[in-house]
Amino acid sequence: MILVRTIVELRSAIAGARGRGSPVSLVPTMGAFHEGHVSLMRRASEEGGLSVVSLFVNPAQFNDPSDLERYPRDEARDARLAEDAGADILFAPPVSQVYPPGFSSSVEVRGVSAPLEGAVRGVEHFRGVATVVTKLFNMVQPDVAFFGQKDAQQALLIRRLVRDLDMPVRVEVCPTVREGDGLAMSSRNVLLAPGDRERAPALYRALTAVERAVAGGVHHPDEALAAGTRVLTEAGIVPEYFAAVSTDTLAPVRRITGETLIAIAARFGAVRLIDNVLVRPAERRG
Ligand code: AMP
Repeated sequence: MILVRTIVELRSAIAGARGRGSPVSLVPTMGAFHEGHVSLMRRASEEGGLSVVSLFVNPAQFNDPSDLERYPRDEARDARLAEDAGADILFAPPVSQVYPPGFSSSVEVRGVSAPLEGAVRGVEHFRGVATVVTKLFNMVQPDVAFFGQKDAQQALLIRRLVRDLDMPVRVEVCPTVREGDGLAMSSRNVLLAPGDRERAPALYRALTAVERAVAGGVHHPDEALAAGTRVLTEAGIVPEYFAAVSTDTLAPVRRITGETLIAIAARFGAVRLIDNVLVRPAERRG
């Protein structure tokens, strides 16, 4: 694996593979790697061809400056993990490469960026995500890019972005990787206070309680979500949002009739965690 920091170096490192007609894959990340990231890198390397992992803590998508400051960083460890996961190139640019002086463009995906995370973090968050992903796609020009279902709204937004702007990239969304107790892996988990780390798996237990209710025949979202709210209340968690929404528009559903996204966000001290599951009602017999 080689480590590159500039767009010029990146392009020249990719040119050979592209010239040979090998496919190029991209895994965009903000570093502080865990098994979730590693699963995406393995998928990318299984594609064959050249796999690029980008590591860039994107200031434009942080609505809270202290969240950006606290964000865990360990590039040397990340480089080892990326190499072990089969990455060919680790692209870790400084902020000045991505946002040179005078930078003044942005990409906005309306609609799906507005609810849930958009409502809590403001429009700048997903504008920052869409802009940096567009830039990374232009820098790397991948054939395929890998994202995690853990950030379901982000994945949906990127699918929309690629479709709306005719980007020649296949978007693959990979399953959420969890700790043994169900907590979705996140770079922010290491920032949790010990007591909060113990309570945090209740997020996933709440999601699975909704899943069970729906599988058991509950179609009304309020009733299904109530099963999860009981779990949260027991753990002393008041979520920022806990919603049953359309997988297409992210608008709240009035009845759970087809595949539905159950999304949750909660604060544990200064640390915000998000998670989600896809639920579907049991097939009707006969
Ligand atoms: P991040 O570094 O948090 O921006 O994440 C980089 C990529 O890894 C994004 O596509 C995330 O959705 C994905 N990701 C983060 N956590 C997980 C997880 N627990 N399981 C699967 N993918 C994940």
